[in-house]
Amino acid sequence: MTLTAPVNKIIPFSNVDGPSNRTAIFFQGCPFNCLFCHNPETINMCVNCGVCVKNCPVHALSFDDSGSVVWDKGKCVQCDTCIKVCPHCSSPKITMMSVADVMKEIRRTLPYIAGITTSGGECTQQNEFLIELFTEVQKLGKTCLIDSNGSFDFESDPRVLSVCDGVMLDVKAYPEEWHRHLIGHDREIVLKNLHYLLEQGKLYEVRTLIFPGRDDENEAAVRYVSEVIGDRCFYKIIRYRPFGVREKYLPELGDFTTDEDYAMKYVELAKSLGAAKAYII
Ligand code: SF4
Ligand code: SF4
Repeated sequence: MTLTAPVNKIIPFSNVDGPSNRTAIFFQGCPFNCLFCHNPETINMCVNCGVCVKNCPVHALSFDDSGSVVWDKGKCVQCDTCIKVCPHCSSPKITMMSVADVMKEIRRTLPYIAGITTSGGECTQQNEFLIELFTEVQKLGKTCLIDSNGSFDFESDPRVLSVCDGVMLDVKAYPEEWHRHLIGHDREIVLKNLHYLLEQGKLYEVRTLIFPGRDDENEAAVRYVSEVIGDRCFYKIIRYRPFGVREKYLPELGDFTTDEDYAMKYVELAKSLGAAKAYII
């Protein structure tokens, strides 16, 4: 049987999903539930409740005979009303794609890209698919990067790293309680992956979020990561921005974007601890 995976979207050219120009593939589904998720419509699979079907202004959504929601891409005007009204952090605009389908999209951009990045959602939930996809992409001389929240135990399936050029790993927070509050999950597997990927020479970048006014939590994360990675990979210090965040879940942070000067203090801290490749976005 042909292997398929739920694809939320493919961005043909991205320069924010790894080095150089890359095709970014976003898979549907994520085992974490970050309160600040910027694309919460990628978290869950559709449960066919029908709320979006009733709200689509151009009738691009309907039910098939089995009660599953069907998206008519041709009729869709990309207003995203369906995503806004979905009560389940999902989207009806998901396409089940085979590796051949994704390769067809990648071939369109091939002369102009350095490689591909798989993201989500959490792309490692589709690890079998990634192995097949990366094998095909590497045959074409392009690089394959994984953008991961660290929920997948990379050590448990070495086949993934054997065909992957590097991982961009989120260590979004560090103090245990704060991590559980923000992400809805313990930090153990994330920290295990941080060490394992570094040992394997596959850690391309680590990303940590800096939250306004959370001095202790921010410092703890930056200290921990910096001391582990040193200058062996990039360290992206990300200013918290409330865009797309489910506001009801993070009332304590309100509508504030982390101030640039405030976040820069953590870049300086990271560098002082040896993380020479720390930078801010
Ligand atoms: S994005 Fe497309 S499917 Fe969704 S509500 Fe708008 S027109 Fe309908
Ligand atoms: S996308 Fe959301 S609103 Fe639409 S049917 Fe699926 S779960 Fe319901």
